[in-house]
Amino acid sequence: MVREQRWLRLTLRAPSPLMETLSDLLLEHGALGSWQEGSAVHVYLPPEFNPLEVHSCLRRLLQCLGSGAEEIEFELHWEEERDWQSAWKAHFRPVLVGRRLLVRAPWHEVPKGATDRDLPIVIQPGQAFGTGTHPSTQLTLEALEQHARPGMSALDLGTGSGILAIAAAKLGCAPVIGLDIDPVAIENARENLRLNRAEGQVRLVVGSIDALASGARFDILLANLQRQILLPILDDIATHLNANGVAVLAGLIETEEEEITSEMARFGLRSEDCLRREEWIAIVARRRV
Ligand code: SAM
Repeated sequence: MVREQRWLRLTLRAPSPLMETLSDLLLEHGALGSWQEGSAVHVYLPPEFNPLEVHSCLRRLLQCLGSGAEEIEFELHWEEERDWQSAWKAHFRPVLVGRRLLVRAPWHEVPKGATDRDLPIVIQPGQAFGTGTHPSTQLTLEALEQHARPGMSALDLGTGSGILAIAAAKLGCAPVIGLDIDPVAIENARENLRLNRAEGQVRLVVGSIDALASGARFDILLANLQRQILLPILDDIATHLNANGVAVLAGLIETEEEEITSEMARFGLRSEDCLRREEWIAIVARRRV
């Protein structure tokens, strides 16, 4: 379920490496999705973005970039929700993550080549993050697939679209709890649970880790958040893990690995693995017995 009826579409035409950098930058700062069409990239911004501010920010950014920036063209348009949804329909492709997690939208047919072993995760793109196309979501899903076993309890901290909680349930984890401070994300996650017939397996709660009962402990805890959100809650993450439990900490970039692993160690979390894609990382940590 989406909250607003329109979206701001930014169309960029730029030399290709620069275009990718600009669209990544916008995705890191609140853009909801992007797709490429020939030499243009369309970036969808939520309705809270003010077109005049976006325009002036981009102008200032391009001035700072100096040479090469004069080749960059951009346009901003308001687009109705139904157009946005049809853009997703045309350009959002099913994605196979890890060995058998197949993320797709409700309108996608099961792709050729999919096998009975694949676990479909159906995601209706809404206003929440988590369509399976971002490297940090993919790394977290891969780490989850490697470590989840039937019957393990799982916590998805910052559930967004619910994608990780749904994957945990499909891998047999139980119980599964999804938390998010954003009620709109919880609404989108609830819709996705329904699409995956996982309502009975995942409990969704609006709130952060402090919404948990003090004695709640999990075998696996997924946190695709950012450095500045993770750092102050590493002690809570350790507290809510069973001995030997696994935490997957993502939404981080390579340069943040050392700081996070040394902070984690203060709370008894030992770094066991680090998955990498582009500049993104997911740290797999185990709570010492
Ligand atoms: N889990 C999804 C995925 O992996 O694609 C979505 C991750 S998205 C990067 C982060 C989500 O965490 C957002 O939906 C945001 O609202 C939520 N969030 C941010 N800070 C939080 C906090 N302190 N506690 C719980 N949720 C939080």
